[in-house]
Amino acid sequence: MMFDRKTIRDIDLKGKKVIVRVDYNVPLDENLSITDDTRIRLSIPTIEYLIKNSARIILISHLGRPKGEPEDRFRLDPAALKLEELIGVRVKKFDSIYSDEIKDYVNNSLQNGDIVMLENLRFDTREKSNDREFSRLLASLADIYVDDAFGAAHRSHASVVGIAEFLPAVSGFLLEKEVETLTSLLESPERPFMAILGGSKVSDKIKIIRNLLDRVDILILGGGMTYTFLKSKGMEIGKSICEDDQMDYAREMINLARKNNVRLILPVDITAAKEFDRNSESMEVPVDGIHPDWMGLDIGSRTVDLFKKNIAEARTIFWNGPVGVFEWEKFSKGTKNIAFAVAESNAVTVAGGGDTVAAIRRYGLTEKFSHISSGGGASMELLEGKILPGVEALIKK
Ligand code: AMP
Repeated sequence: MMFDRKTIRDIDLKGKKVIVRVDYNVPLDENLSITDDTRIRLSIPTIEYLIKNSARIILISHLGRPKGEPEDRFRLDPAALKLEELIGVRVKKFDSIYSDEIKDYVNNSLQNGDIVMLENLRFDTREKSNDREFSRLLASLADIYVDDAFGAAHRSHASVVGIAEFLPAVSGFLLEKEVETLTSLLESPERPFMAILGGSKVSDKIKIIRNLLDRVDILILGGGMTYTFLKSKGMEIGKSICEDDQMDYAREMINLARKNNVRLILPVDITAAKEFDRNSESMEVPVDGIHPDWMGLDIGSRTVDLFKKNIAEARTIFWNGPVGVFEWEKFSKGTKNIAFAVAESNAVTVAGGGDTVAAIRRYGLTEKFSHISSGGGASMELLEGKILPGVEALIKK
């Protein structure tokens, strides 16, 4: 399916005040330096297009989780400076979200191609509650609304949904590309289509597993959530992480995979640890050989080989979630091997989710993926088959 919403290509931008929702929710260190500017870089094609087409740009974003009031460590100044550095255009940053000064500046001083940035939207509780008055206030600054914040598109917030009621609302290039790439995975993947799902909890992945079982040819499960599946098959999993209340669901998914002819692949061996500790004593054991006092913290080498063999067969691969406690060197081997195997395959490779993207980045493999999603939650919801409110709010083509 093509993206069915209007984009900045479909609207006259010349001399218009354009309020652009970006996702500058970037990680900062204790000195407020940005440790990963990917999200800012990804917004540049849209911003440069707006500049080239003589729009007057008002950027809005959230950052972190402030509690509905100003907090210096969540101010957007580092993002404004970084953007300025990356595009070589001055970005005038205001210290509030709305004021008479801002209104006056936008109406009387903002020129074609100029950029201003407002303060962190989550300094106002009305952002998250999708408050109508707050949406109207934001909208009153501009003539056109552009949404390019894929990472926030699953949130029904004022700057994502409410604002679109008051202005012509169109998509930027990033939102368009993300939605197009992820929906085409679901609708027209080159086969065999494989999904690799990891992470700690089954309950987080219920809907995505369910939806993908109707679409994929091969489903690989790794990580903490596999133990619920293994236990549901009657295996001893020792002290491994497990959600007993999800065992029926796990059985149901195993049956559904069989019914849908999906090759469901679970680990055959694991790296077990004596304690949940980065330096714990550890050993590789077959999946039915975990000592009752030990726990599985990574997949084993036979599983790595099994996963790799299947990865080599796939023509489309979607990966979300580490297959072990990859933050700890000792239990990162599985995730590292999977990252390399997917990166090196000739398939269309798409990855999403904060931990997965962090792992890919750590191993320097970012460029080797066809697409790395900038939105963990939003990409998951799309693959669960949900419609994103941020996309719904935009004008239909
Ligand atoms: P999630 O937030 O559900 O995507 O899960 C990511 C987290 O799962 C990472 O922090 C991993 O350390 C963790 N994880 C992966 N495998 C295991 C495991 N076998 N036991 C416990 N935690 C795990």
